[in-house]
Amino acid sequence: MTTTTDTPQTLDSLSQGLLDLLAKHDPEAARILADEAERQATTLELIASENHVTPVVMHSAGSCLTNKYAEGYPGKRYYGGCEFHDQAENLARDRAKQLFGCDYANVQPHCGANANIAAFMAMLKPGETVLSLPIKSGGHLSHGLKPNFSGTFYNIVDYDVDPDTELIDYEGVERIAKECKPQLIICGYSAYSRIIDFERFRAIADSVGAKLMADIAHIAGLVATGVHPSPFPHAHIVTTTTHKTLRGPRGGLVMTNDEEVAKMVDRKVFPGSQGGPLMHIIAAKAIAFGEALKPEFTTYCQQIVTNARALAQGLTERGYRLCTGGTDNHLMLVDLRPRDENLTGADAEGWLESAGIIVNKNGIPNDPRKPMVTSGLRLGTPALTTRGMKEEQMKQVAELLDRVMGSNGNESVCAQVREEVRSMCGEFPMPH
Ligand SMILES: *Cc1c(COP(=O)(O)O)cnc(C)c1O
Repeated sequence: MTTTTDTPQTLDSLSQGLLDLLAKHDPEAARILADEAERQATTLELIASENHVTPVVMHSAGSCLTNKYAEGYPGKRYYGGCEFHDQAENLARDRAKQLFGCDYANVQPHCGANANIAAFMAMLKPGETVLSLPIKSGGHLSHGLKPNFSGTFYNIVDYDVDPDTELIDYEGVERIAKECKPQLIICGYSAYSRIIDFERFRAIADSVGAKLMADIAHIAGLVATGVHPSPFPHAHIVTTTTHKTLRGPRGGLVMTNDEEVAKMVDRKVFPGSQGGPLMHIIAAKAIAFGEALKPEFTTYCQQIVTNARALAQGLTERGYRLCTGGTDNHLMLVDLRPRDENLTGADAEGWLESAGIIVNKNGIPNDPRKPMVTSGLRLGTPALTTRGMKEEQMKQVAELLDRVMGSNGNESVCAQVREEVRSMCGEFPMPH
């Protein structure tokens, strides 16, 4: 068991205060929270969709705003006592608009998938046709996977990446769009390492009378800082999470420049698909957006991409193949087979975890292995960059990854790497 006193340097003072309080109040829960804090502080987080928020954002997410019902929108609530909730929500909306350069923002979706539910409901009638990239090629489950709401209530048609280049096959998108005449085309992905050409997508949408939805869940921080081109003014509707590269609390966001779309989105978030908003999270979103508006956040996002390139290069030099040949953003999809034909994503994920390196297995385009096995890993640099790591550390991380995978998860190699990871983490502490 980990006690809170083992890890004073890994915790910000408010987290330490909470754990001290909790240790008296509920020791069982305190132990779980302390162990997780220790895990985060002493491991290398390479999951592309994760990040480490600042203590201010983290603790704002636990404020007294959790106590209140604020169904409705600022100025139009179904409950009394919402004066400061209106102010918090307006602050979040205004900062989101400023950050992404758009006219309307709904900050109430509880998560990215909920933002997409509201977006589908705003743009489509049930049964209408959506053209999207399937999850197996880098899309997201909320873009049309059968068991998801999207695949259940809408007619989903797939486009794909080019089998040779692994880049979005824009000509294919256009051809399929002309055949299936979708009402909505979705771009924006979970495992795609290259720039998205929003303008080209809009031209295709216009040519068939479809609307364009951009889901920038992964790249939102890069978009907000100009490190990746903006979906505005091309997309009719833009959805995102707030907790990936944007480094805010866990949540969703929907944006548009179209007043009619904005009205529909508001109705479809509440009462269409959610009840009372998580006002404590909305306040934390406002605070995170405030952080993202500062020049330091732009420097941070630039470093994320510089780090991703350095990590990609380190892996390429060691015999791994990167899908699409590299990366323009915060993530890369690594094909393990050229390094070792028998290496699977599932094995690598397990071995690396035992060495203190946290990754997720991920299918690569046209992966012959099953989704629970895979031939690939998806790696991202947002969290390590938050800890202050730079290119030099990325070279080191590439070497550590390869040492573990090259040893086939040999126990003593993993234990040795675990110690080196711990010492790196000591040098690059969590935000505090
Ligand atoms: C992560 C992600 C989402 C969903 O986010 P949740 O907050 O997990 O619901 C939606 N779309 C894309 C492209 C994503 O990568």
